[in-house]
Amino acid sequence: MTDLIQPESEFELVFLGCGTSTGVPMIGCECEVCRSLDPRNQRTRPSVLVRTPRGNILIDTSPEMRLQILRERPGPVHAIIYTHGHADHLFGLDDSRLFARALGGKPVPVYCEAEVEALIRNVFSYAFVDETKRFPSGGVPRLTLHNIEPYQPFDVIGYEVIPMRLDHGKFKVLGFRFGDLAYCTDVSRIPDESIAQLQNLDVLILDSLRFEKHPTHFSLSESLAMIEKLQPRRAFLTHLSHSFDYQAVSATLPPNVQLAHDGLRVIWSGMKTNLITDISSMDPEIKNHAENNPSTVA
Ligand SMILES: [Zn+2]
Ligand SMILES: [Zn+2]
Ligand SMILES: [Zn+2]
Repeated sequence: MTDLIQPESEFELVFLGCGTSTGVPMIGCECEVCRSLDPRNQRTRPSVLVRTPRGNILIDTSPEMRLQILRERPGPVHAIIYTHGHADHLFGLDDSRLFARALGGKPVPVYCEAEVEALIRNVFSYAFVDETKRFPSGGVPRLTLHNIEPYQPFDVIGYEVIPMRLDHGKFKVLGFRFGDLAYCTDVSRIPDESIAQLQNLDVLILDSLRFEKHPTHFSLSESLAMIEKLQPRRAFLTHLSHSFDYQAVSATLPPNVQLAHDGLRVIWSGMKTNLITDISSMDPEIKNHAENNPSTVA
C-alpha cells in the first residue's frame, strides 16, 4: 500500500474539483475543451479540502467526492462545511459514511445553514432514522449537524472560520474565510458587509463560470473586476465551465490570477487557532492529532 500524500506545508488547500455543475467534459458536448486531453480541462464538481495540522476540513461534498478523495488520499476527513445545498455541492454526502469509521465510529461534524440542514435531512433521510432501525454500522452516514450563520465566526477542529453571505442569483450562499484565505464559490454579487470581510487576503478563491454574463455566477470579467477591487495577493478562479480552455485563458490573466484545476494545491500561512476551544474537550481523535502537532496549538 502506498503512503498517504502528505501536505507540503502545515496549511494546504486542495482543489478537489473546480468544474461547474455539469462537470467538464459535459455530457453530449463535443467542443474542443470537452474533447481536450489536457487534464486541466477535465473538471469535477466544485469542492475543496482544507488540510491543517489538526485534520482535514472538507468544503462541500460533490457528486465525485469519493473519486476526489481517492485521488488525493488525504487521510481522514474530520469535518464538513457547506456553502449551500445545490446538487453539485451536496450529492456526494452518502460516501461520508466511511469518514465516521476513520473517526472511530463517531459522527462527522457538519456545519451548514438551517436551510441546508433541512435539505440534508430530506435528501439523506435514511441517515437520520432511529438508531435501532439503522443499517449496520458503516451503511449510512453518521453526522452531527451544526447550524452556522453569516458573520458569526465558528469553530472547526479548533480553528476559527468566518462565514459570510454571498448572493448566487436568487439563492443565498456562504463564503468562508480561513485566516487570510477565502473561498467564495457560486456567487453573482458580494454584499458590502462581505466585501468588508474580504480585505487583506493572501488568497482569494472566486467563482468564474464563463465569458458571458450569467444570472447566478460571476463571468470572467466580473470576477477580474472583483479581484481588482479586493486586491488579494493571489487569486484562483473556480466553478469553471467548458468555455475556458486552461492554457488559452491562463495566458490572458493578470499575473496574480490563475484558473484552478483539479488537484491544484495552494499553500498559505494558516488559520487562527480558536482560543475559546479548550483542547481537553476536543474529540479524542482531533485532540491526539493536535497534541502530535504542538506548533499550532495556541
Ligand atoms: Zn455550484
Ligand atoms: Zn463542451
Ligand atoms: Zn449553486
